Amino acid sequence: MSANRSFTRKQFTNGGGPSNMMQRAAKAVTDALPKDHGFALMVFPLDSRDGGLRYVANASRESVLKLLKEFVEKQQGSPTVSDADKVVESAKSLLKDVTPEKRMDLLSEMFSGYCQACGGTDSPCHCMNDD
Ligand SMILES: [Zn+2]
Repeated sequence: MSANRSFTRKQFTNGGGPSNMMQRAAKAVTDALPKDHGFALMVFPLDSRDGGLRYVANASRESVLKLLKEFVEKQQGSPTVSDADKVVESAKSLLKDVTPEKRMDLLSEMFSGYCQACGGTDSPCHCMNDD
């Protein structure tokens, strides 16, 4: 994730006053953080029913969206992609130490319940059917 220390007005222009507010907030956050830290600041009126969310960050939109997704998943208690990656990494490490026969049994058990063509959970899965 690359931090962009120079804020252009274009990055968070949303019109007159609020835009100026976001620029001042972005500068204040930037000044308060160590140079190698990123931020994403979301600002909204507390009494608004229709949102009014404004957003400013010093990282790419793609990076912020990825972080937000991970944040939401963590807050909701669902496993994150990185959690699943860790499980696979751990499982692969453990599989090194078993016999080939045991490894095949374990892999077969691992694939059980998933379509090996598309990864879906439908049983039987029709992803390979042309009709
Ligand atoms: Zn399938």
